[in-house]
Amino acid sequence: MANPNPVIKYTQLFINNQFIDAESKKKFSTINPSTGKIIIDIAEGDKADVNKAVAAAKAAFTRGAPWRVLNASGRGLLINKLADLMERDAEHLANLEALDNGKTYVSALGDIEASVGCLRYHAGWCDKIHGNTIPTDDGNLAITRKEPIGVVGQIISWNYPILMLVWKWGPALATGCTIVLKPAEQTPLTALYMAALAKEAGFPPGVVNVIPGYGPTAGAAISDHPDIRKIAFTGSTEIGHLIMGAAAKSNLKRVTLELSGKSPVVVFDDANVKEAAAIAHQAVFGNQGQSCCSGSRTFVQAKIYDEFVKLSKELALNRKVGDPFDKTVVQGPQVDQEMFDKIIGLIKSGKDEGAIVEAGGERQGTVGFFIKPTVFSNVKDQMRIAKEEIFGPVQSIFKFNTIEEIIERANNTTYGLAAGVITNDINKALQFCESIEAGSVWVNCYDAITPQTPFGGYKKSGIGRELGEDGLDAYLETKTISIKMPRLK
Ligand code: ADP
Ligand code: MG
Repeated sequence: MANPNPVIKYTQLFINNQFIDAESKKKFSTINPSTGKIIIDIAEGDKADVNKAVAAAKAAFTRGAPWRVLNASGRGLLINKLADLMERDAEHLANLEALDNGKTYVSALGDIEASVGCLRYHAGWCDKIHGNTIPTDDGNLAITRKEPIGVVGQIISWNYPILMLVWKWGPALATGCTIVLKPAEQTPLTALYMAALAKEAGFPPGVVNVIPGYGPTAGAAISDHPDIRKIAFTGSTEIGHLIMGAAAKSNLKRVTLELSGKSPVVVFDDANVKEAAAIAHQAVFGNQGQSCCSGSRTFVQAKIYDEFVKLSKELALNRKVGDPFDKTVVQGPQVDQEMFDKIIGLIKSGKDEGAIVEAGGERQGTVGFFIKPTVFSNVKDQMRIAKEEIFGPVQSIFKFNTIEEIIERANNTTYGLAAGVITNDINKALQFCESIEAGSVWVNCYDAITPQTPFGGYKKSGIGRELGEDGLDAYLETKTISIKMPRLK
């Protein structure tokens, strides 16, 4: 049941299956975004703690260690056990998530259900990851083996704390890697609880380590570390540049990045306007607008533009904002003061640059980081709200005329994470799918993200893919073994 005061059992670093204080004994506070008040203090990891965690992960990966001798189906059983424990404790996890992040309890439960599915999907892969036999010119028997890459560093964002953790743990555990994960400083609570569940599930010491802390200290220590073979990052493009630079300077660790976006949702005039407005609304307002693939540019064909704007305005005005633990509420607060200020600043820039406020346009109440669902019409491509990632509940509606024009405008961004197209014309949908530069294209739907399908960005939205079979690659090395074939005379 929804409970805004869940018991918080774990506040320390998790290294080698033990909860311990930071070497420095330092702590930082995690804040409740609904009130702006401190929830609790958490051990603050830094370089010394990351070093300890990496040493534990390295030991767990050593030849002969329990994790290395466990067979592939054994790994699958452990991952499924972790999924079972998440199901057992789903309500508690959802309460921690809603408290720490500000998302609604109901949507947090949805994230947990998705996370369980993601773990089970990866559990199924464990004993199905295999190489090839290859016919070679030299007549040797050539085979490839897929081997786990080793110790992996994982740095994640605060917008989907549990789900992003599971996206990272799933493929790492399925392939047999060991993990040092840093949750975002805004949302450490559920990652620590997941660490306790991993221990209970039976993962050997050192396989999973969790170090809460800040980016420039704990995060940088992970991206710089010479014994980490691969880093998986979810966060801003700005920090993505730093991570890749650190990987280049330290040890050429493999890098996958899941970064920012400015994804278009394109509505053609043959569509059912009401259904289209509802899809576009959810695409941008879901999760308080705090999604990397948020459909933050809504392009509407001229003939239906006025009606579409009217419907979008109504949807925004009817969107209930408030206490995340109230089951009738669909939008909670933004995650912190910094994001709140950034969004309010961008809303101001939209007004100053001549966009029309159809709904919202200001904070809600005086306590916490709540922002009214905001709809801008008359948005022009050169405005800041058209170009910069807002990461908040702000819809920008643009008008367009032809498919040629809209493909060019939709692609006119440095990002390329996702795109949506709404039409009943199969040819338009196919032309759009072919021409758009985006890692995911959703036709007559949005946010159709599943564990089975790869997800990731073109251009500055990222490098590599997560989920699906493609998502395993980043955690694997390929070894080619060539064996001289003795021929019978
Ligand atoms: P946002 O701006 O949305 O908070 P960030 O990209 O800043 O997203 O943060 C995403 C994650 O990256 C967080 O876990 C954060 O602590 C971490 N991080 C921030 N700066 C660095 C850095 N210099 N090196 C490594 N990780 C970092
Ligand atoms: Mg930041």
